[in-house]
Amino acid sequence: QINRALILGLIETCREVIASHADDLCELDRAIGDGDHGTNMRRGCDAVYLDRERLGGLPLPQALETIGTMLVMSVGGASGPLYGTLLIEIGRRLGARKNGADFANILGEAIDAVARRGRAQAGDKTLLDVLYPVHTEMVRQSALVRIAERAEESAQLTAGMKAMRGRASFLGDRSIGHIDPGASSCALLTTAICRYLK
Ligand code: ADP
Ligand code: MG
Ligand code: MG
Repeated sequence: QINRALILGLIETCREVIASHADDLCELDRAIGDGDHGTNMRRGCDAVYLDRERLGGLPLPQALETIGTMLVMSVGGASGPLYGTLLIEIGRRLGARKNGADFANILGEAIDAVARRGRAQAGDKTLLDVLYPVHTEMVRQSALVRIAERAEESAQLTAGMKAMRGRASFLGDRSIGHIDPGASSCALLTTAICRYLK
């Protein structure tokens, strides 16, 4: 039942933080995109939340894979397939994990899959600019509070970057000076999850 409590806890935590920041995420996206990032993420979280009873009955790897697929189908923006890929890849690797494979390793490979899917790299002003630093802190076995702090700092740092992928890239240099919405949602989710796990 630890499994069930963990899955339900994570689903509720993520839905809560996205719902309470949906307007902020839309505002960030209005500056350099089409203004829907908060709405997109909320739609995805609501779809997952509606199905939480079934998801809570699955082993964690399958739950993550299923949630990832739901996000791909329900989010409706570029962010859906990217967050979806992240969870699907983590779930698959967690399910196939041999003794000793640690979570930081698994996360690193899943982030690489997101980068391939988006044809993006570090510094392109996307959610990857939060995911990679979070991974770095996990490899260092940093405390959860430090991982959350690093996620927030990393989202802020995207303001100085020029967008190279997604809608914001259409703005070229005019994307500089604004925080990337996907990086912001990623930092919010990371912080909420770290707080929940603490
Ligand atoms: P859309 O741009 O389709 O409206 P969202 O607004 O939901 O989708 O998500 C935008 C976010 O998705 C961006 O802020 C960025 O972080 C991320 N993103 C967009 N395109 C890519 C990409 N090719 N690779 C990585 N991340 C991306
Ligand atoms: Mg958008
Ligand atoms: Mg859109």
